[in-house]
Amino acid sequence: MAVTKTVAPEKINFAVSQGITLLGENRVQEYLSKKDSYDKNAEVHMIGHLQTNKVKYIINDVSLIQSVDSFKLAAEINRLAEKNSRSMDVLLEVNIGDEASKSGTDKGSVIELASQMQELGSVRIRGLMAIPPIGADEKVFAEMNELYMKLKEAKLPNVSADILSMGMSGDYQLAIKHGSTLVRIGTKLFGARNYMEV
Ligand SMILES: *Cc1c(COP(=O)(O)O)cnc(C)c1O
Repeated sequence: MAVTKTVAPEKINFAVSQGITLLGENRVQEYLSKKDSYDKNAEVHMIGHLQTNKVKYIINDVSLIQSVDSFKLAAEINRLAEKNSRSMDVLLEVNIGDEASKSGTDKGSVIELASQMQELGSVRIRGLMAIPPIGADEKVFAEMNELYMKLKEAKLPNVSADILSMGMSGDYQLAIKHGSTLVRIGTKLFGARNYMEV
């Protein structure tokens, strides 16, 4: 996946023309201002922290929401998916490093959240997402993979766990070594971000 935050649409479309088929968006506001310029061949996932009151702006534009970390958010996605006669694929975001500054459900609650979400008929859990702490020990990646396996083994009806979204520019090799099926790359594709542009 190419992570597009702060990147101009022309650059993003160039990446799409070179074979990138999946884009990752962080901020609803920024996405809304850019999405009409995007090449329609690219699929978009929401990967950034999502507030419940913003789901309505993206429900018909993204194919998957990677940042589900509460039942409340999942229920709102379900409500709006139903209303729009669609279903939504999601990943559960896990705060694998137990960092106070990061969103994500804590690792001990993942299966419980997935079980709770079984009543949401228009949401399908496709797997897990994590942002390991910068410089995290390899065992954090291994632990994330174990959690993903545990979700698979739980065999919950609304879960088809086939995506482990883990790995960014600085740690994608380690993530792949530990079972990642989807790496989210920004800097290594587009160069350093200039936050002043946003
Ligand atoms: C920015 C971001 C990335 C990409 O980070 P890079 O280090 O630039 O590759 C991946 N995932 C999320 C959730 C991000 O916010």
